[in-house]
Amino acid sequence: MFRLDGKVALVTGGSRGIGRACCEALAEQGATVIVNYVRGEDKAREVVGAIERSGGKADLAGFDVADTPAVEAAFQSLLEKHGRLDVLVANAGIAVDGLLLRLKDDDLTRLFDTNVRGALTCARLATKAMMKPRTGRVIFVSSVVGEMGNVGQTAYAATKAALIGAARSIAREFASRNITVNVVAPGYIDTDMTSGMNDAMRAKLLELIPLGRTGRAREVGTACAFLASDEAAYITGQTLRVNGGMYV
Ligand code: NAD
Repeated sequence: MFRLDGKVALVTGGSRGIGRACCEALAEQGATVIVNYVRGEDKAREVVGAIERSGGKADLAGFDVADTPAVEAAFQSLLEKHGRLDVLVANAGIAVDGLLLRLKDDDLTRLFDTNVRGALTCARLATKAMMKPRTGRVIFVSSVVGEMGNVGQTAYAATKAALIGAARSIAREFASRNITVNVVAPGYIDTDMTSGMNDAMRAKLLELIPLGRTGRAREVGTACAFLASDEAAYITGQTLRVNGGMYV
């Protein structure tokens, strides 16, 4: 079950954290995984190496999701090289925290450029490649914060909520082409993005999580692998929450 043999998957921001876990989970199921990175080429090479050492197939694609011409060029060369694209995990994202009254225009632009425009550019190019074969999976990585909101995360939450609306629309646009579009909404997952929390913040956070612990990147990766599989063919326009019960 959930095998992805013969499929080609692109994971944006795949060199660390949740992205890396998605790359590994997809590769374990047999997909050839294209690991996108923007700055950490060494880390991305490490992911490719780890996948290959476990008997999987992987390749590298360095581009900034917010740089549309670079994304277009990267898609063209990956399609020339691999001949197809079956799965997109639009995972690349940044967090800029701050109360609304202190929100800077530049931060808002940076957040929307990466988290929303970047994800939609990738989705546009991916669905274009998936149309002719009439099969494909697009998975956006949103956040629990996009659904429940959080003090000091207005801008970040807005970008993550935007992905949910976009996924529902794209799911409707491409259903007739047999392309499914879903969202994975992680809760608090232990990665570089959340490593800044002090013990007091962490204890307060744990009180909000019924399962009593933060999540593992691997647990988001396996949710993505499931949504990418043939077994998830009848699931589209949905949000799969991987949050320990924090928001239900
Ligand atoms: P992370 O900071 O470790 O990883 C983010 C990845 O995105 C990095 O590899 C980074 O290089 C890449 N990236 C950033 N900007 C990019 C760009 N312009 N082009 C290409 N790649 C870019 O954080 P993470 O926790 O692994 O986060 C992964 C995704 O999951 C993000 O979208 C984040 O918003 C979301 N998320 C994380 C959590 C959490 O608790 N960690 C919770 C909910 C949602």
